[in-house]
Amino acid sequence: MVDEPSEEEQAPHKIEKARSSRSKCRTCRRKIDKDTLRLGILLEGPYGTGYLWHHLKCAAKRRPEDVEEAYGAKAWEDGLELPSLDELRKLKEKAEEAKAKRKDPPYAEKAPTGRSKCKHCGEAIAQGSFRIVLAREVSFGNQVRATPINVHPGCVGAELRAEDCMTELEGFEAALRGGSKDLAEEDVAGALEAIGNLDD
Ligand SMILES: [Zn+2]
Ligand SMILES: [Zn+2]
Repeated sequence: MVDEPSEEEQAPHKIEKARSSRSKCRTCRRKIDKDTLRLGILLEGPYGTGYLWHHLKCAAKRRPEDVEEAYGAKAWEDGLELPSLDELRKLKEKAEEAKAKRKDPPYAEKAPTGRSKCKHCGEAIAQGSFRIVLAREVSFGNQVRATPINVHPGCVGAELRAEDCMTELEGFEAALRGGSKDLAEEDVAGALEAIGNLDD
């Protein structure tokens, strides 16, 4: 992971093809396959100086300033074939768009089919009606994760008070407004009306 420190001064960045499959990407935590492009970021630590590696594509999405600097400094050996900086910038834009579109509970939506069931009462949620997505705590082994669940608007109040519900009752309305990215404002208002007063 960390290259053997050398006497000569090392550049702050380095782009190369991975020389083995032993390094791990510090962004996605997966291994970097041999011959895959990687970006090294020089780290001066108490145990010496060396490069911490990232897939070049991971770095493009998460550490664009390092990629820009490395390209600016031409931090690679002559002859290395690299994607253009523009391509890498587009990768980042796409990753950001995907992130902006990803919805996190709580949010409201209209049930696209009549097949989903309310996880609170077990009854079907009618097609085209509002359904509310909340987060429920589910454990896998000793890991606890939030899983999205669908509930009827009328079941939201009770579900928010359930012990394994990870969506907070406090601030729920604002969170739902912020999370319901696919719904028009009047629809969100309609969903909130269907949910009703959460205070009692
Ligand atoms: Zn990676
Ligand atoms: Zn229900």
